[in-house]
Amino acid sequence: MLKDKFIPDYMFDNVLRIKPEFFADNGIRFIVSDIDNTLTTYDEPIACEEIRDWLDRVEASGVRIAFISNNNEDRVYMFNSVHGYLTQSRAGKPGTRKLKKLLKRMGAERSAACMIGDQIFTDVLCAHRAGIRALMVRSMDVTGRPFLKFKKYFEHYFIEEYYARNPVR
Ligand SMILES: [Mg+2]
Repeated sequence: MLKDKFIPDYMFDNVLRIKPEFFADNGIRFIVSDIDNTLTTYDEPIACEEIRDWLDRVEASGVRIAFISNNNEDRVYMFNSVHGYLTQSRAGKPGTRKLKKLLKRMGAERSAACMIGDQIFTDVLCAHRAGIRALMVRSMDVTGRPFLKFKKYFEHYFIEEYYARNPVR
């Protein structure tokens, strides 16, 4: 169903709530992660220490990580300077061309890959259109960004549908 493309496969409040073992337990060996509002706020050049440490632990668990962002090269380059992962800037999500290119560079099979992101109409949709799983986290900070708040309003329907399908245990 078309609607399914907008419904995340997994939801968490933030990435720190995801245990590194979660990925291996769910057959995920490749992560492509959004940057802005997923791993850091728009105003911070790099991730905070806790999140950097979380990324290190996930990587140490045997998962390959890359960053994918619709933001520009400078932003992505600076953010990645403390990690050195593969990156794709100006990704054009929810378009899938750049995501597919990045997955190829990672050597990732789609069935073992997932996107982590904070936006349904960008990250979740992009992942599903490319045939990979979508893990959604809550946006870190939408203050002062009226258009983002507007989009968040339209996400409610799909988030409710996610919880209807995945009752909190
Ligand atoms: Mg984002």
